[in-house]
Parts: sequence; structure tokens; C-alpha cells
Amino acid sequence: MSLQRVCLVHYHEIGLKGHNRSSFEKRLADNLKALLSECPITGIRRISGRLCIFIKEDASYEDACAIADRIAGVPGIARVSCGYRCKQELELVYSTAVQALKDCEPFTTFKASCRRNHTNWEIPSMEMIKLIGAELCRAFPDHRVDVKNPGVDVRVEMIEGSCYVYGRSIPGVGGLPVGSSGKAVCLLSSGIDSPVATWKIARRGAIPIGVHFSGRPETSATSEFLVDDIAHVLERTGCIGRVYIVPIGTYQREIASVVPPSLRIIIYRRFMFRVAERIARQEGAKALVTGESLGQVASQTMDNIMATNASVSLPIYRPLIGSDKVDIINDAEQLGTFEISSEKAADCCTLFMPRNPETHAKLFKVEEAEADLPLEDWVEEAFNQAEIHDYACPSYKPRKLKRPKDAVEGESAASSPAADVSAADELTGSLESK
Ligand code: ATP
Ligand code: MG
Repeated sequence: MSLQRVCLVHYHEIGLKGHNRSSFEKRLADNLKALLSECPITGIRRISGRLCIFIKEDASYEDACAIADRIAGVPGIARVSCGYRCKQELELVYSTAVQALKDCEPFTTFKASCRRNHTNWEIPSMEMIKLIGAELCRAFPDHRVDVKNPGVDVRVEMIEGSCYVYGRSIPGVGGLPVGSSGKAVCLLSSGIDSPVATWKIARRGAIPIGVHFSGRPETSATSEFLVDDIAHVLERTGCIGRVYIVPIGTYQREIASVVPPSLRIIIYRRFMFRVAERIARQEGAKALVTGESLGQVASQTMDNIMATNASVSLPIYRPLIGSDKVDIINDAEQLGTFEISSEKAADCCTLFMPRNPETHAKLFKVEEAEADLPLEDWVEEAFNQAEIHDYACPSYKPRKLKRPKDAVEGESAASSPAADVSAADELTGSLESK
């Protein structure tokens, strides 16, 4: 009889959630079920503080490892192990342990460990370790036992009347299952930082709804394609539900033509935050998220952050505020977004970039500078014209959009920026790509 291959999923933090534990476990199981729908698995079962993923009979050890690698990147998982489930019969446990160790070849040293979750298995764990260790030594006479630093630790766990045996065990990303902490609107540029910030907030259980502002029609749509590529990376682990693409080039041109050059970037950003807040209202999201890191660029000084915050009432989370760029780059590499973010694309923040952007903005001056702009109308219009892309996120139920159809089809309202704003010298040729 062939052995039943399984992946055993361990989670720490959600195990600590007291009476909420079962809904967290269910959320994690549902997320995994949807994310693994294309993989050769037959089912997922909750067993005593773990999830057991049953793998199809004809799947190989490599298939099982690929499934484990996939699982390890999903928020909420502390560790995932690749092995077998068998009956609690000593001879069967021995042969399964030998098979689990064989799977891990090549290796030089090993050890055995054992844990009983229930005492219905009469042999104490220490005794079991000796028995299994002796059996493995017999089966692998050319390999050494190393209890301190083994190449492979063959673990035997007695849980709810079954025995789980595995040699390969890898750490997961930790955190909480996506969908256990509500929704957040994440400002997603095609740069390095914001995909990492989005991932971090998803890792704490939030469902990210992305919003990307492009400089179209003043710039090409390159950044929009890059954001779509980034969203597909986040989608692999269920870390994004939807992305709104909002072209704001026309508004930027208008802003640039009326506000002092040094305040342009802050006023663009206040506009972005307002549109993001409008999206949050549509989506029922309770926070905005950015990839800002204190002092990294001119717009990320304390004064400027305060001036941008004041444009909205929702809380703004900045998971990277205390991170250095090198650490963010490492995270982006691990996440798989670094290469995409390194592609050159026009960034709408640098559209009509002034020579000396303000680094210590005064809120009253900013408010004065934007006082005559029909910002409320623009926000509504930009929201109505946003393109929407949905991604596979098991815990996200797309909301039906309430938008006037004519606005979606692109008709301009009276308040929209005039198309014939004269291009003052300082507005031309100042588009930079980061
Ligand atoms: P990133 O690498 O994420 O673009 P950055 O270091 O380039 O960050 P800024 O350009 O000042 O910094 O942007 C700070 C944050 O503002 C970004 O992390 C992102 O959350 C948001 N943001 C900036 N530009 C855009 C955009 N075009 N669309 C959506 N959000 C944006
Ligand atoms: Mg940027």
C-alpha cells in the first residue's frame, strides 16, 4: 500500500487567539483551499492546532515540496512540513520514518524527534525517539546521528489517533490569514516600496485594495502595466483583491498651472489620498496604506507627511516608516517584486517636478494654495473614471460599484481641468522617470 503524502501546516499566532481561533483556522483553511486549487491535493483537514493537506496518490515527493513552498508564502503560516500520515502502528511508523528520511537524500547527518499530542499512544516520546533512531541507523548505516545540528530532523507526531512523519520542514512567512483584519486601500506605485508595504499589511491579515495613480494622458501607461505585474505577484499568495487604476495627468497639469511650484508634489499627494479615501468608502476599507519611509525623499519629511495626512480623515498606515532602503529592497527581492519595480516608468509624483520641492510644508499655506481647486468634484470624477482590475483573493468579495455610467464612459464634467491649459515653460520637459 502506498503511503499517504501530506503537508502539515503549523501556525503559531492564530493558535493564540482564544475563542476566535476556530474562525481564524477556517479562514486560513479557506485561503489555502482556493490558492491550492490547481495543485494535486485531495483535501484539507483541521487537526489539533494544525492543518493537514492531503496530497494525491500519484503525486511525487517533488510535487509535495512544490506545494509546501507555495504554502510557506501564505500569510498565517509559521511552518510547513512535507511528509506522510500513517496509522499508529509501530512497524508502519518505522517504515514511514525511513521513507521520510530517504526523501531528504542527499544528507550526511540526521536525528529523530517525537511528540505525542494525546497520551493514547502508550510509548513515551523519549522511548519512541530511541526506537525510531535505532531503526533509522539500521536503514542508513553510512550516515551519522547529530542531535545538536542535524542535516535532517525526522519528526514523528502522534495526533488524534494518527501518526504524522516528516523530514523536510520549512519556515512560513508568519502573520495572520488574509481576511482576518478587514480591508485597507493601499497606494501602489510601480516603485520598490509600496508593494512591500502592501504585502506587509496583507501579512497582518488585511485584504489590500490597490490604487495606482498614473500620469496618463501626460505620461504613457507603462506604470499601469508594471502595477498589474506586481499585483499578479501578490495574487500568488492571496495578498491583493482589486486594483483601481486612476489616471490623474490632466488634474496634475491643472494643479501645476495654479499652485506654487514648491507645493505641487504635496498637493498631488493630497489629491491622491482623497481619491484613495473615496475608494475606501466604496470598498468599506478602514485605512489607507503607503510605502513611505521617514526622510527617504522630500515628500516624506514629518512636516510634509503631516500636511498630506490632513487631507483625509481615515488613518494612514505606513508599515515601512522606520525601514531603511536596503531592508526594503531585501524584502522586495524575497517577495518577487524587485525586478518589476526596477523597470523604468514615468512616476506621476515627478510630473511637472519643481526644482526645489518644499520639505517643510505649512498646512495653512497648502490649504490656501489649493483653495480654489474644485477638488471634491475632481475626486468624484477621478473615482468614476477609474479602471478596475480584480485578482484572485479568496477572502475578498468584490463589491458592486455604484458609479454613474456616463462618468465611467469618460464624459467630462464642467469642473474637469481644461484641456487647453497653456503649457507654461516650467511645465514642459520636466517629466522625470525615477
Ligand atoms: P515607492 O517605491 O513605493 O514608489 P517612493 O520611495 O518612490 O515609494 P514616493 O514616490 O514619495 O516614494 O511615494 C511614497 C508613497 O506614496 C508610495 O510608497 C506609495 O504608497 C504612494 N505613491 C506614490 N506614487 C504613487 C502612485 N503613482 N500611485 C499610487 N501610490 C503612489
Ligand atoms: Mg514612487
